Amino acid sequence: MKWEDNVRKVVPYVAGEQPQKKGIIKLNTNECPYPPSPKVEGRMKQMDYQDLRLYPEFSEKTMLSDMLVSYHGIGKEQIFIGVGSDDVLSMAFLTFFNSDKPVFFPDITYSFYDVWAEVYGIPYEVKPLDDDFCIRREDYLKENGGIVFPNPNAPTGVFMDVSEIEEIIAANRDVVVIVDEAYIDFGGTSALPLINKYDNLLIVRTFSKSRAMAGARIGYAMGNERLIRYLNDVKYSVNSYTMNRMALELGAACMEDDAYFKEICSKIIATRERTAKELTALGFTFPPSYGNFIFAAHNKVKAQDIFEKLKKHDIYVRYWNKPRIDNYLRITIGTDEQMDALFAALREILA
Ligand code: PMP
Repeated sequence: MKWEDNVRKVVPYVAGEQPQKKGIIKLNTNECPYPPSPKVEGRMKQMDYQDLRLYPEFSEKTMLSDMLVSYHGIGKEQIFIGVGSDDVLSMAFLTFFNSDKPVFFPDITYSFYDVWAEVYGIPYEVKPLDDDFCIRREDYLKENGGIVFPNPNAPTGVFMDVSEIEEIIAANRDVVVIVDEAYIDFGGTSALPLINKYDNLLIVRTFSKSRAMAGARIGYAMGNERLIRYLNDVKYSVNSYTMNRMALELGAACMEDDAYFKEICSKIIATRERTAKELTALGFTFPPSYGNFIFAAHNKVKAQDIFEKLKKHDIYVRYWNKPRIDNYLRITIGTDEQMDALFAALREILA
């Protein structure tokens, strides 16, 4: 059809499956296996449906914003809130990556980055990780139109020391550097303190993993107030009311319960360490993970075989048929009971 000549054609990002079947052990999208804080449940029950008649407040004027500002000890003008960190990152790509020079990110990384670059027509170059899946800093010292990477990286779980991140930022003062800290609460150290030293650094966070609220869709970014102003200008040129009333309320309730947040993070870390030992005993190798997942390859059996056989046991993990990582499985850390079921299934499959 003729109209198709002028259609913006893209190859979309493919998210992990969301099987609706009951009883599935879902270790494929790095969700939290625990429910959100009881405070979230309490707030949900208090919400009045009649309020839905009204537009929500502008997200940077909400209680959620105030709570994040005080939690992180940043200025009121240093925060941007969006519909999950995907929305925040997408807006950041649109706002900051507007150069003829290529944006740099790793070859093995969050597979949404190249999709945003494509849809917004941003030139980009991927920089291969080394054989241990570490970022090679020297690759990021050449002229570029911006830099983005997760820390810890996904899907590898590899964490890069903040001092090394600082080297990259310091060498790239003329472009914006985005550090996607989706998984920072599982043992890594945040680069957040650097936002006051470097006006070109944007830190992105999410409620989807460590705060157990993937379904509420809350993400945020922190950075120099000029960066945040530019980000808001673009956001308010696309959609003024991205955050719905419920998410804003429930996010604030979640922030009230720091003890619960710390408790679930430490439970996941403990289960991850246990999982690492079990997987090693089963013949898997993997880089040390600082995320709520482990990226593992088996020494004999192909990842794709294991992936498919686990599905038959109603256990879903993530597999990508892509160069360099096609023999790896990314296994989200679930509860101890879920992981026990995984180990039992693996023992059977690998026997
Ligand atoms: N960044 C990374 C590295 C991720 O793995 C994810 C989860 N898919 C996201 C961002 C987006 O998460 P959300 O939109 O749920 O905040």
